[in-house]
Amino acid sequence: MAHRPHRGPGAHRPALPPARKSLGQHFLRDGKVLDKIAASLDLTGKETVIEIGPGRGALTDRLAERAGRLIAIELDRALIPVLHARYAGRGNVMIAEGDVLSFDLAALAQGPYRLAGNVPYYITTPILFHALKAPRPERAVFLVQREVAERMAAAPDTDAYGALSVNLQALASAETVMIVKPAAFEPPPKVDSAVVRVVPRAQPLVSPEEELPFSKFVQACFAQRRKQLARTLRSVATLEADASRALLESIDIDPTARGETLSPERFVELFRAIVAARG
Ligand code: SAM
Repeated sequence: MAHRPHRGPGAHRPALPPARKSLGQHFLRDGKVLDKIAASLDLTGKETVIEIGPGRGALTDRLAERAGRLIAIELDRALIPVLHARYAGRGNVMIAEGDVLSFDLAALAQGPYRLAGNVPYYITTPILFHALKAPRPERAVFLVQREVAERMAAAPDTDAYGALSVNLQALASAETVMIVKPAAFEPPPKVDSAVVRVVPRAQPLVSPEEELPFSKFVQACFAQRRKQLARTLRSVATLEADASRALLESIDIDPTARGETLSPERFVELFRAIVAARG
């Protein structure tokens, strides 16, 4: 009798394309990390989840099991048939092809949603702020470089505290849930990573109209992070020395303090005082 090759479930799957470093492709292979990311989303089985960069589907599998509906956005065209084949039998999974930054995530979700992603490191910061555009996700869990996670959650007057910390914390809280070593990935990246949970504030510290000018102001302040605030404001807010000191004193900020000592709340106060002073 002729031998018929066994056609198991994997037999129809397209071959995996090689990992593309230019797209930040470091695929997770550690089940504990994958479980931790999925668990940190606190899913009940009803939620809509958007995944950024499903890659070969390692995290997607976990999310598809726990989400009501999963929308996975992948830029690498070569991975799209792989993902379609992998989730052909899963009615709750939709694959969207393209750059995550070009999608209106809330419109794609058509309602409340949660966000997850082992995100490509080359565009981590743009992705974080894209994800924090209103209407914001209920929560987001990202796998990012450890150093970025530290900056996201940093407290004032620490080395990691900077413009990213202030601008993110004005809109959300960030908390590191787990440190991840390079061996958890294939191919391994050169640096440690971390799982971070981001929960948008019910009341953001800045309004949608303030977001952009505030973030530029904060960036300009941190470009001179070692300078005393009175000096910083002379260039950043084009104030005379006396006016700069008076403005800081009017809101109880020591003019000799450095910007990196101000909390996000104090940065917002300062920003608003400058806007008010300018009329
Ligand atoms: N989630 C998979 C995992 O954990 O194994 C893959 C993670 S890998 C670090 C990042 C993924 O994001 C890759 O699949 C990459 O092709 C995809 N990607 C890169 N840039 C992207 C972009 N601008 N928009 C959407 N996906 C992107």
